[in-house]
Amino acid sequence: MRSIIPDYLADALFRVEPDTSGQPAQYIPELAGADPERLAAVVATIDGEVYGAGDSDAEFTIQSISKPFVYALALADRGFDTVLDKVGVEPSGEAFNEVSLEHDTGRPLNPMINAGALTVQSLIGPWNSEPAERGERVRQGLSAFAGRELTIDERVSSSEMDTAHRNLAIAHMLRSRDVLTEDPRTVVEGYVRQCAVLVTARDLAMMAATLANRGVNPLTNEQVVSGAVVRYVLSVMFTCGMYDAAGDWATQVGIPAKSGVGGGLIGALPGQVGIATFSPRLDEHGHSVRGVSLFERFSSDMGLHVMEIPSAASSVVRSNQVQDGERGATRVLRLQGGIRFAGAERIIRDAEEIEVDEARVVFDLSLVYSLDAVARRLLLEITRRLTDGDQEVYFVDPQGILAHTDVGAAVVVDELEGAVG
Ligand code: GLU
Repeated sequence: MRSIIPDYLADALFRVEPDTSGQPAQYIPELAGADPERLAAVVATIDGEVYGAGDSDAEFTIQSISKPFVYALALADRGFDTVLDKVGVEPSGEAFNEVSLEHDTGRPLNPMINAGALTVQSLIGPWNSEPAERGERVRQGLSAFAGRELTIDERVSSSEMDTAHRNLAIAHMLRSRDVLTEDPRTVVEGYVRQCAVLVTARDLAMMAATLANRGVNPLTNEQVVSGAVVRYVLSVMFTCGMYDAAGDWATQVGIPAKSGVGGGLIGALPGQVGIATFSPRLDEHGHSVRGVSLFERFSSDMGLHVMEIPSAASSVVRSNQVQDGERGATRVLRLQGGIRFAGAERIIRDAEEIEVDEARVVFDLSLVYSLDAVARRLLLEITRRLTDGDQEVYFVDPQGILAHTDVGAAVVVDELEGAVG
């Protein structure tokens, strides 16, 4: 059977194609000449499957889509405290190039607007890195997110530098408040080069899928940044990624996203997919017109809004039975799915019903595919209370979901037969 998804993507492109409103970014001469008809959409799953339609291998400059990734690199290189000290995480509700800083501290409000991204550019690599080292760290870091070696479009970079008056003004203001402590021009040059990294929609989808996959690139399996860094980055993308359209985007599309004036747009849906679109005509906020339409369509057609998550808790306990064996009654709780707090709470409720004369309690984890840290702690606490009351506890864990956790007085076995007396 031919896969359904590329056909769906091709159909979505066909539907947005007639919309020729907006225009390519005019303030960067080299971008003003971009072919406005280019159009692509790519979906990459967190296990590395990539579906594309249209010009998914056409190269264009990443522009502001670099911001969340470079922010991730800075958090990884310098740590949370250093970066947060310099750049906030509050939505600005203003345009990307607004000259706005926090009144009292002079900190840029967030890393998605240019003031924040310029500051982040100065926080890359080890302390006191040379500009060239920082540039290479950015190029290599973005390449690791994409899973292939990326290059810089020198023409776009120098073309943007020729007209970078506004970014220079922002950088000088940051310097005057000591948020930047070096030559503002050097920082703008680094930032403009970061924006001129060449990518395809396929690369961007893979970069987004790496964020969706807790920082692990689905193709290379490289842990590019930690899960803790990714959580930060996705949160900031969700609240600030679409600048002064962030609220509309969060309510209507509901996918952490970032746009770039090169015409790219990415969305990262944690635990599911990375999505990228490419179409150079921009709206008044600097977002790709057709890209926004495509994301609205994808979100509703594929049910991708992050606030719409099916309840996993109700189905965590697949069955709860008492079996009579030679050594008395055995309670068998068969668990399934991904277990987090709400799921663990269901298990606690079922465990409360266990009678003291049930000598043995079995938690069958054969059909569990994930157990987060909170659920693990709660499950171990249930175990401790049962074993303290002299009941035997068995875990059936053929897949190693407990991952060498200290289960105290409980016993871990591979098969249910080994646990039921
Ligand atoms: N290099 C662009 C600028 O700073 C990026 C803006 C964007 O893509 O939103 O003006």
